[in-house]
Amino acid sequence: MKNFEANRISKIETSIFTKISQLAIKHKAINLGQGFPDFDGPDWIMEEAFKAMKSGKNQYAPANGVLSFRKEISDVYKKFYSLDINADEEITVTAGATEALYSTFNAFFQEGDELILFEPYYDGYFANAILCGANPKFISLRKPDFTFDFYELEANITEKTKAIILNNPHNPTGKVWTLEELHWIAKLAKRYNLLVISDEVYEFLTFDGVSHIPIASLPEMKERTITISSMGKTFGMTGWKIGYAVAPANLTAPIQKVHQWTTFAVNTPGQHAMAHALNQLDEYLPIFRKTYEEKRDYVLSELKSSNFKAHLPKASYFIMLDIPKEKNINDLECATELIEKNGIATIPSSAFYSKSDEGKGMLRLCFAKKDEILRAGIEKLKNY
Ligand code: PMP
Ligand code: GLN
Repeated sequence: MKNFEANRISKIETSIFTKISQLAIKHKAINLGQGFPDFDGPDWIMEEAFKAMKSGKNQYAPANGVLSFRKEISDVYKKFYSLDINADEEITVTAGATEALYSTFNAFFQEGDELILFEPYYDGYFANAILCGANPKFISLRKPDFTFDFYELEANITEKTKAIILNNPHNPTGKVWTLEELHWIAKLAKRYNLLVISDEVYEFLTFDGVSHIPIASLPEMKERTITISSMGKTFGMTGWKIGYAVAPANLTAPIQKVHQWTTFAVNTPGQHAMAHALNQLDEYLPIFRKTYEEKRDYVLSELKSSNFKAHLPKASYFIMLDIPKEKNINDLECATELIEKNGIATIPSSAFYSKSDEGKGMLRLCFAKKDEILRAGIEKLKNY
């Protein structure tokens, strides 16, 4: 049979999250791999969606999103980050952050463009770059604090570079970028006239009293930044697939050109429910953060008596683990062995790297799981 696959997608593989989840199912392993909570989001949000459905909010939403939702997003930016966002011209509601990334990459990148990607990276950025024919240049974040060489970043910017991709807070490391790092990235973006695409889906999942700083809130950065977020992360309902991209009007227009032929509009009742949910952040966030912080602390304290060394995450629901050196085994072998022999699934970190070998020595664990699942999973890790 002829190979019908388009050339440009031949480099894209099934995502590591799907691969590991399938292997976990096959071996009936506890799944601390793919990043999603195995518990439900708030009932009161579901009730709002149901109310919206029952009151006739069931036809297409406007392509850029339901107005009340866009207004709430704008209010959140004002209240939490002192940013003025025009709800009519600067917001696009998308089918999760995934679609926001797709529409943004396709709006700005074409064959031959270069973009800067910090590794380890959420692998969606790499796939989207490939789909657009753009070439990522990789800057490695180095252990223990996953920081980067400031001058290496500048040296990798060329005439073809169009954007720096930032993920703050960071998947998979749980890093919250320091103000110094953000200022340096902003300085280079301004000096070389680059866009910054900032994926901030874990903006509210920060620990130890850390507050998130959007790079768009730094001086003169709003005009060149596309900020992406996900209600799936903020409210622990990843299956709802509601996200958004915030950008100045001249950058929002191209994003919406792609968006209108990708999904056109996002499910209407869900947006009404999320408008209500965003309005409750003050009451919701302390409980949300406490729930996850307790899980993080539990996992970190238990792992002290294992052979894995954990890197402290300041945000997100991920922890990076160093594979014990004595095992003399790479991440893929270790993750496979853990699933097949120990009954516990994690993500081999080399999937998040293209340049450095550092990923071969690490696994990513997701702690957004019920306490009893975490307990059982950690026991299995300790047995390794
Ligand atoms: N960006 C990052 C960093 C993520 O971790 C994820 C999903 N885990 C996404 C984007 C995709 O978000 P969504 O589920 O809203 O499409
Ligand atoms: N982003 C999630 C993770 O990092 C997975 C999302 C997906 O499977 N597309 O685990």
